[in-house]
Amino acid sequence: MADFKYCQPDQGCASCAACCGMYNWVGCSRELAREVLEFQTEQYLKSDRTDSDLLKLKPEIFSRRPKILYPVIYNCEFLGFIGNGQKRVGCLLHPGLNNGNNLRGISHHGRETCDQARCTAYFYLSEGEAELAASAAADWYLYGLCLTDLDLVKEFFKMASGMVFQEVRPETIGKDPKLLEIFQRYLGLKESWKWARNPLRFGKYIFQEGKYLIHRIDYSALGRGRSRHDKILNSLGSEFENAAELHEAEAALENLLQEFAGKFR
Ligand code: SF4
Ligand code: SF4
Repeated sequence: MADFKYCQPDQGCASCAACCGMYNWVGCSRELAREVLEFQTEQYLKSDRTDSDLLKLKPEIFSRRPKILYPVIYNCEFLGFIGNGQKRVGCLLHPGLNNGNNLRGISHHGRETCDQARCTAYFYLSEGEAELAASAAADWYLYGLCLTDLDLVKEFFKMASGMVFQEVRPETIGKDPKLLEIFQRYLGLKESWKWARNPLRFGKYIFQEGKYLIHRIDYSALGRGRSRHDKILNSLGSEFENAAELHEAEAALENLLQEFAGKFR
């Protein structure tokens, strides 16, 4: 595996900058992330790229920031759109963007950390799973959301394998356009899930007063037992007001998985 292949895969515009704070905003959305990245990129492109000039950008960027979700994660001011057309996200200080000069020495984490850091996806997702996520979510916003949500990816394979009574492999999905389209819809739920209504949630995590907890759905308050889709429901940031909502959400997942199983051969 090439170093950092999960961060900048070859497929489409899939690119990730989650660990640089890309999603670490209260009520993060595609629009909000785009605004931040556009502004940071614009500021960076105006600089002469000397340390002193780049450091001057910080106060201007800080003054225009939305509210940070979890202050322990640093929202890097040198994260931006890379390449043409604002289609990929990444590190503006990377040597590949600066005639071979690695400018990360001025970053909050320092050059060594930025050059070497790898998230849990590198340890827990197989290459096949990461490549499939990149093919199905070949997009600057959705890919990082899905790649860093291990439960979301792993649970799909677990549930789907249980329904077809054999191991569902990512390579099989990647080669079959009908299965890939269903997996794309599944990952797309990360952005469109109507029960993800709490701006302090990020997947299964909830952030409050500088701390984070894993959110648990209170099934007893809904008069229900634990859903078989519990992990996926939490990954999608679900918070239900009543049992009817839970039922509707479960049915949406069940239908999607059934459709997948029906097309699997
Ligand atoms: S969260 Fe993981 S895949 Fe994404 S940029 Fe960081 S190390 Fe790379
Ligand atoms: S300087 Fe470090 S934290 Fe900032 S965008 Fe680059 S790699 Fe990410």
